[in-house]
Amino acid sequence: MSAQPEISVVLPIYNEEGTLGACLGEVLEQLEKLRVRFEILCVNDGSSDGSEKLIERESQRDSRIVPVHLSRNFGKEGALAAGLQAAGGRAVLLMDADLQHPPNLIPLMLERWRGGYEVVEAIKEDRGREGIADRLLARGFYLLMGRAVGENLRDSSDFKLLDRQVVDVLLEFPERCRFLRGLVAWVGFRVARIPFRVQERRAGKSKWSRRALLRYSVQNLVAFSSAPLRVVAWTGFSTVLAAVLLAIGQFYYYFSGRSVSGFTTVILVMLFLSGLILTSLGVISLYVANMYDEQKARPLFVVRRGGQLGSSAQAGPPSPVSEPGSSS
Ligand code: UDP
Ligand code: MG
Repeated sequence: MSAQPEISVVLPIYNEEGTLGACLGEVLEQLEKLRVRFEILCVNDGSSDGSEKLIERESQRDSRIVPVHLSRNFGKEGALAAGLQAAGGRAVLLMDADLQHPPNLIPLMLERWRGGYEVVEAIKEDRGREGIADRLLARGFYLLMGRAVGENLRDSSDFKLLDRQVVDVLLEFPERCRFLRGLVAWVGFRVARIPFRVQERRAGKSKWSRRALLRYSVQNLVAFSSAPLRVVAWTGFSTVLAAVLLAIGQFYYYFSGRSVSGFTTVILVMLFLSGLILTSLGVISLYVANMYDEQKARPLFVVRRGGQLGSSAQAGPPSPVSEPGSSS
């Protein structure tokens, strides 16, 4: 591409053959209306369905659609990071490829960006259909994460338009475990918020199981906040305090001649303390594991060059293109 595109759209794609075609159609329609120079980066996050073929076909038909194939599934954060790195636009728009993020919001987002905002966030006005357990879990997670970055993240989404300045700052971040929404909140800049309704998925299903979500939440919490460690310290301190009070009580009973036989109490106290110690060790281990992962500094994603199997372009050697940082 000769001239720099005004806007790069990044679509993370993992097995989205059912919705990708429609999504590309709608995004193209919106961007063409705006008469801007643009590119649409289709980041294929190791899809095993027909997504890759579809991306290749579309990119051959329209040179503004740019394929980025990852060497395997790296997770959405990895795919987003790959997209940010490949994007050449003066602004980068991140959106899901399942049409849950409505493309008809693009013109308004662009307008806000042109009005001087470096970050334009689409805020979930309605979280779509979600069970009560999911809603509660999400609420707890966002409350803690929000405290960690000092922002309300509850209704934030990955549907964002970022100015080149912001993208460049994000690309500098060395950390492997990343939660883009948190990082964007952390970097600051002038932020415009636009409410939107999360659409129903048109086809396929969400890639998130409850277990995966829980793991993702714990990982991000550990990566972003040291609050759990402080909780461990405070719990240890409170336990010591409770033990001192208990001892004082026992002395009192002893000297007033009402000493209680304490076998059950001893077992209970031991159980309580060993539980506490193990839990605390567990929390600390999460941080050690996080440090271990960061220390290895493996790339967040690996881009595979070359076309599909059997096509004329042969897959080249895997490119070391990568960026330190990830969720995996
Ligand atoms: N996605 C991805 N890699 C993954 C999982 C998801 O690139 O490992 C993409 C997916 O194709 C979609 C977006 O991330 O475009 C959001 O995924 P999903 O709809 O499963 O998440 P939800 O909307 O349920 O939070
Ligand atoms: Mg979705």
